Amino acid sequence: MNPTNPKLRGRFAPTPSGEMHIGNAWTALLAWLQIRSGHGSFILRMEDIDKPRSKPHLARQILDDLRWLGIDWDEGPDVGGPYAPYTQSERLQHYEDALGKLQKQGALYTCFCSRADLLSAASAPHGLAAEGPAYPGTCRNLSPEERAAKAKMKQPSIRYRVGEVPVAFIDGVSGRHSFDPAATGDFIVKRADGMFSYQLAVVVDDAMMQVTHVLRGADLLDSTPRQIQLYQALGWEIPAFAHVPLFMGTDGKRLAKRHGNTSLAALREQGVSPAKLTGWLAWIGGLVPTPGPAAPQELIGRFDLSLIPAEPIVITEDLLARLYES
Ligand code: GLU
Repeated sequence: MNPTNPKLRGRFAPTPSGEMHIGNAWTALLAWLQIRSGHGSFILRMEDIDKPRSKPHLARQILDDLRWLGIDWDEGPDVGGPYAPYTQSERLQHYEDALGKLQKQGALYTCFCSRADLLSAASAPHGLAAEGPAYPGTCRNLSPEERAAKAKMKQPSIRYRVGEVPVAFIDGVSGRHSFDPAATGDFIVKRADGMFSYQLAVVVDDAMMQVTHVLRGADLLDSTPRQIQLYQALGWEIPAFAHVPLFMGTDGKRLAKRHGNTSLAALREQGVSPAKLTGWLAWIGGLVPTPGPAAPQELIGRFDLSLIPAEPIVITEDLLARLYES
């Protein structure tokens, strides 16, 4: 592909902790179509910051699965690009630098709470889904002396002090959202074990890689207000966000192994062609009227974010069966 629109840059940013399944393929396809339909640049970034959970063989397999699907990228771990490296574990200095800037602003503080402390903080209101309960602010106002004393006993994590004004944004799929920062509480940017948080790493990477459009799964919608606060604090331009619906089983739970093996490897073994899968995904998303085979290339002209439903998509047996018909 030959990107001609420098103002459109998007990415797919998988975590190599599991095999790619139809849900990841759906997100990757839509992110790719959004960028290809506007002649922008598509970036592949490997989010392996959580080293113990990330596996190199899975990272390789994700690249193979994407190629099999017919999705290509202009910049990425294997092809390089102007903002290399494209693998998070090789970008730690960038995260440290951003942390330094936030530290200078007085936006960070050390936190000595354990997970157990937080779970037992009975008064803590339930925060937004992905990150668990809102942080009750236990360590927010410790004196320097108290911090120094505690630091002798325990390695702290580092939290970002959220603001007071609601964070509002327009999502490309589900419209306007407004989040009260108190509902999330101050969030971790560096864990006690030294690992940078997803929230910090993803903002640093998307900003430094000049990403203008973030399209990802709706499970990350509640991360967005946190990330917007980091963009604002760091003085970086906020990208356009679109959170596409998750795939669910008929039990209302997120599609997983127990609903049947929907990994790309399993589908491939059962003879499902990549064009069959991408055509089926486009049909599920309302982009085409029938579930027949259609390669990503052929779907570019069909992409329209306004057709994508905002509600989770229930993958029934009948829908899945359409994937296997020829
Ligand atoms: N690495 C994240 C995941 O695989 C996605 C991050 C993002 O798209 O912002 O869930």
